[in-house]
Amino acid sequence: MLEVLTLFAQGAQRYSETNNAMIGGGYYGFGIDYYYILLVIPAMIIALIAQARVKSAYNKYSKIPNSRGLTGAQAARMILDSHGLHYVPITMVQGQLTDNFNPTTNTVNLSPDVYSGTSIASIGIAAHEVGHAIQHAEHYFPNKVRSAIIPITNFGSSISMFLILIGLVLSQMLWLAYLGVILYSTVTIFQLVTLPVEFNASARAMNQIRSLGIASDEDAKGVRKVLTAAAMTYVAALITSLASLLRIFLIVSGGRSRRR
Ligand SMILES: [Zn+2]
Repeated sequence: MLEVLTLFAQGAQRYSETNNAMIGGGYYGFGIDYYYILLVIPAMIIALIAQARVKSAYNKYSKIPNSRGLTGAQAARMILDSHGLHYVPITMVQGQLTDNFNPTTNTVNLSPDVYSGTSIASIGIAAHEVGHAIQHAEHYFPNKVRSAIIPITNFGSSISMFLILIGLVLSQMLWLAYLGVILYSTVTIFQLVTLPVEFNASARAMNQIRSLGIASDEDAKGVRKVLTAAAMTYVAALITSLASLLRIFLIVSGGRSRRR
């Protein structure tokens, strides 16, 4: 709980910094940004709570050893091999909760605590990342869609604000602001497509640790808690981007009504 309160305080701090930036942006036509306070701040609070819950689930289950005493790397190897993915390497990356699957190098990268740890959290997180490796090998459709839209999202998010500012400043060019909103929506679409990919990786992880006997029933309960908490951060990211999109849309459509 203390952790949540600390995060709240940090969130408030971050809010005031961002809001100053927005008031600075007000000279370009954004005005005092009530939509930020009404939409984005609540979404950010949800995101902070989701983050705190992952940390607390991880802190709890990274201290409880799994019943078979397997490390994350061993569990990952077992699942990969059972899918014929002997050629997918498992490497160690620095940091905490930095675990990922890199589709470019086709490697499962585990943080030190997950790689060599024998906790319930270690096998759960390792199995989840292997879930992504299996998605990649099986050409899982939502995963392909997600990879395909990454460049569009990067492009859209980088130029959208620029277009919106120009569209709001130049009265004859409001269509540019709407184009900016459409481009900004690619971020939300990306977050939306991320959900089935993440939920599916966790579902695969749960199936594999059970069917291969990596986890006992009791271990599996803990794994589920860690993975569910992690999945909620992706839901929170979607909510945050939806709130930002709605805010920007309302600012742009308000920009039109002011001109009438
Ligand atoms: Zn994932």
